[in-house]
Amino acid sequence: MHLSIVVPCFNEEHGLQRLHDALVEALSGHVRDYEVILVDDGSTDRTLSEARRLSEHDPRYRYVSLSRNFGKEPAMLCGLRHARGHRVALLDADLQHPPRLLPRMLVLLDTGYDQVVARRSRSGERAWRSASSRVYYRLASRWLDVRLQDGAGDFRVLSRRAADALLSLPEHHRFSKGLFAWIGFDTGWVTYRNVPRETGESRWRLSDLVDHGIDGLTAFNDKPLRPAIYLGLLVAGLAGVLAALADGEKRWAAVLLGFSGVQVLMLGVLGEYVGRGYAESRRRPHYLVKETGPVPELLPGEHRL
Ligand code: UDP
Ligand code: MG
Repeated sequence: MHLSIVVPCFNEEHGLQRLHDALVEALSGHVRDYEVILVDDGSTDRTLSEARRLSEHDPRYRYVSLSRNFGKEPAMLCGLRHARGHRVALLDADLQHPPRLLPRMLVLLDTGYDQVVARRSRSGERAWRSASSRVYYRLASRWLDVRLQDGAGDFRVLSRRAADALLSLPEHHRFSKGLFAWIGFDTGWVTYRNVPRETGESRWRLSDLVDHGIDGLTAFNDKPLRPAIYLGLLVAGLAGVLAALADGEKRWAAVLLGFSGVQVLMLGVLGEYVGRGYAESRRRPHYLVKETGPVPELLPGEHRL
């Protein structure tokens, strides 16, 4: 098998046929032998029956349907586990990751890279979103042990050994952007213009983006504890000065303010790591499988309801 294409799908009933057509158009003449693994991430629309239909009509298609919506990260992991190709592409179902880039990415991969990333320019994005991304990547590049690149998402092609490297990372809280960077290997880049979603709508709300950002920062090291400590010292020091200048009740108010601020902050940071340790220690599977097709196939370690 030359190429496996892994597609996480959550409520993509209107997108799958289009994706199929776009892949045929992009790959014919370039890639002879490919398989597409659709991971239905607990969709509530007709995504699963679309996946069944496609895999009945096109022998290159397989699907795995999860027992509920687990999120894109577990869905991608599931697809990666099921991928059998020498190369693995990760692709969104909504055509925001244009399949026409795949041939170029594969050619680049074969020149000796283990990962080729399609990097999106931020044109056409809402201003608040691109501005907050910029701030995030600036912070992340200072705090993380791994280098993240702005615009580099999950759209990429991996060599078999890079895919196996990702599969060897067992953590529960997965932050793929960080994991891709953590495994290392030589990485090639192509750039494309941001495209709006064709059908359906994005499930990322502002709060999801902030959550994802915090996951990224805390998944990789304990450096966020460091600024918390500095900030704590600073606020405590400031409160000390205020307390020295003020007198009577105001002094106590300043002291209390300082300390309560620091405590809340430190608790938040600590809680983040404790919660993470707790989630990992339960050793639950990343997802449960409801149905696979066209042939029933569970991998070792996968659980069906
Ligand atoms: N997705 C998923 N599970 C989820 C949310 C999204 O598998 O809980 C899939 C979705 O179907 C799509 C990809 O992940 O193929 C990216 O999602 P989306 O387009 O909503 O995100 P955005 O493009 O806004 O980052
Ligand atoms: Mg999208």
